Amino acid sequence: MKVAVIGAGGREHALALKISRSPLLEELFIIPGNPGTKKLGSNIQLNPDNNDEIVEFCLAQKIELAVVGPEKPLTNGLADALRSKGIKVFGPDKNAARIEGEKSFAKKLMQDFNIPTADFKVFAKDQYRDALEYLENSTFPAVIKADGIAAGKGVVIADNFEEAKAAVDDCFLNSAFGSAGDKVVIEEFMTGQEASVFAITDGKDYVVLPAAQDHKRIGEGDTGKNTGGMGAYAPTPFVDDDMMKKIEDEIIKPTIDAMRETGNEYIGCLYCGLMLTPDGPKVVEYNCRFGDPETQAVLPLLQGDFLKLLYTAASGAIDKSAVSYTGGSSVCVVAASKGYPGPYEKGKEIRGLDIEDPQIIVYHAGTIEKEGRIYTNGGRVLNITSVINENSLIKAKQKAYEGLTKIFFDGIYYRKDIADKALKNRVD
Ligand code: ATP
Repeated sequence: MKVAVIGAGGREHALALKISRSPLLEELFIIPGNPGTKKLGSNIQLNPDNNDEIVEFCLAQKIELAVVGPEKPLTNGLADALRSKGIKVFGPDKNAARIEGEKSFAKKLMQDFNIPTADFKVFAKDQYRDALEYLENSTFPAVIKADGIAAGKGVVIADNFEEAKAAVDDCFLNSAFGSAGDKVVIEEFMTGQEASVFAITDGKDYVVLPAAQDHKRIGEGDTGKNTGGMGAYAPTPFVDDDMMKKIEDEIIKPTIDAMRETGNEYIGCLYCGLMLTPDGPKVVEYNCRFGDPETQAVLPLLQGDFLKLLYTAASGAIDKSAVSYTGGSSVCVVAASKGYPGPYEKGKEIRGLDIEDPQIIVYHAGTIEKEGRIYTNGGRVLNITSVINENSLIKAKQKAYEGLTKIFFDGIYYRKDIADKALKNRVD
């Protein structure tokens, strides 16, 4: 089978690596890929946001499955464009991708179908006064979210009215997020552990992958600014079998059904960002694709034929037995450039990438190759990931950080506490 993976990050490196191990694979293209994916197939220098270019390439190469990594091409209609030419796609159509692209759409779906989530209210730009009035009567903290995609920066947890008003002003008066801020969602603040669950679905049936926990903040102990994700581990002990059953029954199955019943059939990876509250699991957000960096930790734990899973899901008849999780632990630590998530340095040579340890995978994210050498080229540079057969997060954490001692670049920064939330609970 000829397969194209669209995207350039650590998530796409993880997808490409897993797909490359399938006996079904004939040829793999990564568009545009990175120096890590280059070793697994052909990197093709096309723009993932240009639907016409990608469709033309996939038709010319007779691609049988396109796997779309990032959200932007999906909300931009790449899956629709490919499907209209008869190419199978793992990833939702534009309408279904609204589950991530428009928070107000996702919240209404949850409200209409009784899917547990934080209480909320949506305000449009011409309802500025109403939004402030609502906040005057709210309890704090309250959560203010720009409706559209704002690269993780459109969410403010406001401790008082003034902070909440400033967040609303940013959307409505200062246009800080462009059209993504034309509506705001004001939400109840939830407490609990967060977990990420991926459901692979053909639109009707689904399989869930081992649950992971992300670390969004830049600083240890979940302090400082939000980032694209500084690390993840899987499986998370906060989601045991009973909790997973509840998540499937109350959230995943109802969401997939609701999408189909409202004419938005969802094919691809449905990412459920959850808060495990004292009242049970509730949805914080949906994403319309695999999470980054959770994917880097989750995929190496799967046995079986991952390409078969994606292909059968994209074909509308998912083979639920294509992959399985039979044990093991994984910890993924993101190595970032100095300054990230603010302005950061680039162009630093990376050394130590040739780690030969079957328990360590070094995924590339923000890297570039020049004359055979690898340099930093982004905020999140590498994802150093351990994969061990035992169910031991302690050992998986040790292994990941052992990997990090071998990697060097000027200004390297990483959190030292990935997986600690689970380890502190000593459920390992
Ligand atoms: P990203 O794209 O980076 O995943 P986003 O912009 O889509 O983020 P959310 O995932 O909705 O935004 O929120 C970002 C983070 O803010 C969450 O991971 C969570 O930690 C916190 N958060 C969001 N909503 C709530 C809530 N209602 N109660 C408590 N915390 C929340």
